[in-house]
Amino acid sequence: MRIGLYGGTFNPIHMGHLRAAEEVREAMRFDLVYFIPAGTPPHKLDGELAPADNRLEMVRLATKNNLHFMISDFEVRRAERSYTIDTVRFFLSSFRQRTEWFLMMGIDAFCELESWRAADELTTLCNFVVHTRDYGAESELPQNALANVRRFGYRKVDDHYANTSGRELYFVKTTYIPVSATAIRRAARQGKSIRYLVPLEVADYIARHRLY
Ligand code: ATP
Repeated sequence: MRIGLYGGTFNPIHMGHLRAAEEVREAMRFDLVYFIPAGTPPHKLDGELAPADNRLEMVRLATKNNLHFMISDFEVRRAERSYTIDTVRFFLSSFRQRTEWFLMMGIDAFCELESWRAADELTTLCNFVVHTRDYGAESELPQNALANVRRFGYRKVDDHYANTSGRELYFVKTTYIPVSATAIRRAARQGKSIRYLVPLEVADYIARHRLY
């Protein structure tokens, strides 16, 4: 099995997340992609970050018609703050079947990898797939991304990178849909339409629960 792990606040999940996940899944021949909404730290329960259960439900609604898309409530159910390293350890230890694991993220997230907890260990535990709109050659990567490629010891191997532990790093060019969760929340707050920026069921859910 080849499985992608896609974490985010998903506040709310939108077409940009979904299209990127679908294109990465196809390009990487993943059997499954797990969407893993982040938990809600107690001090962040304000109007901006919708409650975790609502964000989880929106991810469920958005992914229910894709047989390859799964959801995980692992981070949402934990009382303490979840770091990606905890989530990856959990997945690695809970699957019996031989599985190749890939952590999925946008290029902006990869550029900040240095600040992640136990980032060095993370790059030795699982593979990374970074989606970006402009990737064709190394020269098209942002400086911060290139710096992290070197910082974490990745070397170029054919169409991807690998580090000394044998874990791989892929950059996958995906169609960029320029929608942002921040702009969607703002529109919802102002009573404007958010249809076609998010799946219809998600737009209805936000309206019904007056989430933002
Ligand atoms: P916010 O506006 O609330 O900061 P966000 O979408 O940037 O929202 P997350 O939900 O945490 O925040 O993002 C999860 C992942 O989705 C990240 O890896 C990010 O790079 C990626 N992402 C964000 N926007 C898009 C988009 N329009 N297209 C593809 N990927 C995206």
